[in-house]
Amino acid sequence: MTEAVNPAPTSDFVRDEIRADNEAGTYGGRVQTRFPPEPNGYLHIGHAKAICVDFGIAKDFGGVCNLRLDDTNPDTEDVEYVDSIREDIAWLGYEPQSVLFASDYFEQLYTWAELLIGQGLAYVDEQDGETISAQRGGYGKPGVESPFRDRPVEESLTELRKMRAGEYPDGSRVLRAKIDMQHENMQLRDPVMYRIRRSNHHRTGDTWCIYPTYDWAHGQSDAIEGVTHSLCTLEFGSNRALYDWYLAHLPLEQAPPKQREFARLELTHTVTSKRRLRQLIENGVVDGWDDPRMPTISALRRRGYPPAAIREFCAYIGLTRTNSRHDIELLESFVRKHLNLTSQRRMAVLRPLKVVIDNWPTDASGAPVVEYFDVVNNPENPDDGIRSVPFSGELWIEQDDFAEVPPPKFFRLSPGREVRLRGAYLVTCTDVVKNDAGEVVEVHVTMDPESRGGTAPDGRKVKSTMHWVSAAHAVNAQVALYERLFSAPAPGERTGDVMDDLDPHSRELLTNAKVEPALADTAPGEVVQFERLGYFAHDPRTPMLFHRTVGLRDEWANIQKRQNKG
Ligand code: ATP
Ligand code: MG
Repeated sequence: MTEAVNPAPTSDFVRDEIRADNEAGTYGGRVQTRFPPEPNGYLHIGHAKAICVDFGIAKDFGGVCNLRLDDTNPDTEDVEYVDSIREDIAWLGYEPQSVLFASDYFEQLYTWAELLIGQGLAYVDEQDGETISAQRGGYGKPGVESPFRDRPVEESLTELRKMRAGEYPDGSRVLRAKIDMQHENMQLRDPVMYRIRRSNHHRTGDTWCIYPTYDWAHGQSDAIEGVTHSLCTLEFGSNRALYDWYLAHLPLEQAPPKQREFARLELTHTVTSKRRLRQLIENGVVDGWDDPRMPTISALRRRGYPPAAIREFCAYIGLTRTNSRHDIELLESFVRKHLNLTSQRRMAVLRPLKVVIDNWPTDASGAPVVEYFDVVNNPENPDDGIRSVPFSGELWIEQDDFAEVPPPKFFRLSPGREVRLRGAYLVTCTDVVKNDAGEVVEVHVTMDPESRGGTAPDGRKVKSTMHWVSAAHAVNAQVALYERLFSAPAPGERTGDVMDDLDPHSRELLTNAKVEPALADTAPGEVVQFERLGYFAHDPRTPMLFHRTVGLRDEWANIQKRQNKG
């Protein structure tokens, strides 16, 4: 039966606060969250955590979660990313109540900006960006007020209107909030609200040449939509005061949303930053956003990760307020648990070596007899039924399963040794054929006809059982094996550059795999278990290309054992 996968924690600091808000009636019992990606790249496993948090919390409280594309930076954004984000969220099993765009609020944001100017809370600064940032100061370093800070309200209004009308070149002016140039939180030292940027926006085209900053857009968008709890990662902690400041000075019809921060998801051997992932593509390290070595959701999908495994992993690690790096083996153990229950077993030989059974019978016409063995498709699920696997006098086995001179503890096939061909017969190696280079290219065996099904009537034991594929029936396949993209557990920690920790051999493509005929019917995207080798996902686009999802060994269990000992 289905093994209970580790239960999700039922309580965390965010859920506790929402409960308290509901009791206090802060939002009249309403709960509304949003997932707010910037459409400037593909979502990664870190975003999967945010998605599980935002959608999961809304669901737990019978609330609403929208997808909001935070599209305030036209230089880097594109509809391709919008589409992929929507696809990834749906694949993870969540459905936004609505799909919204921050760019739809540009007019409202502009109106509010004029309102702040009118209240003496914002001004147009004509200094260049370098000067403004130098004047901001730093911790223990006083800020310097801009000479434009106290210009008349009317002047700032006129200037902002001219900025919007396109009368000034890019970068020549900004609108700034007038808060406190000596504030200990740098974010409150007169932050920029608008910059002039002539860039074609993927939705608003050339309508605007001024664009709001993240801080000026985010909380206001939350408020416009009626978000109650605006959840984000810890690095936005210092933006919270500004988030609250803007909302406190705007005429809102309901209680302002609350920003709350939780720990980012980081995994060992993995980078989760769109900028870094883009760099990997641009440097030709990987083939694209969905290269199976990438931590993007589209890559994990292509590699065969079940969405439920990702959700359970995210629920298991839960919500905390301290950043930490989780072992990727933990995520993989959830993947393996799911695939063990759902995937059909198949036989595939990745690096083939020919085995010839010298005493295999022939039929009346002199052709080798073909036998069929019934094999259970998935021992975890009887409903998956059985299939018939052909067996004949010439077979493929793994090169690794044969040694002419067996090293110590090697119990697989070698001259004079008897082994079991899984579910079929016991065979004994009698001879080998070598090529000019002295490599074994063919192994000759004799089989015990009494051992049909894999057991000898006299009950004698063999130490090894090996998988095989009938040579006459084999289907060709390509198989991609993967190592970690980054060999270091914390990429970049050593030298400051993650690229220094790349494993140059993270992919091995085997182009001569021989697989059993049933695999020709594998659906695009389907994941199967290759017996003894691991779980493999059929590529969604290239027929008979299989990606290793994970191996069979539970490395997470080993890590835990080591930790318990230590
Ligand atoms: P990146 O740094 O990779 O570009 P980002 O934070 O800029 O990511 P956004 O598209 O702005 O990406 O993020 C959308 C949401 O996803 C934000 O609320 C952000 O806090 C969250 N998020 C991004 N990365 C992670 C992560 N590693 N773990 C958890 N949540 C994340
Ligand atoms: Mg960002």
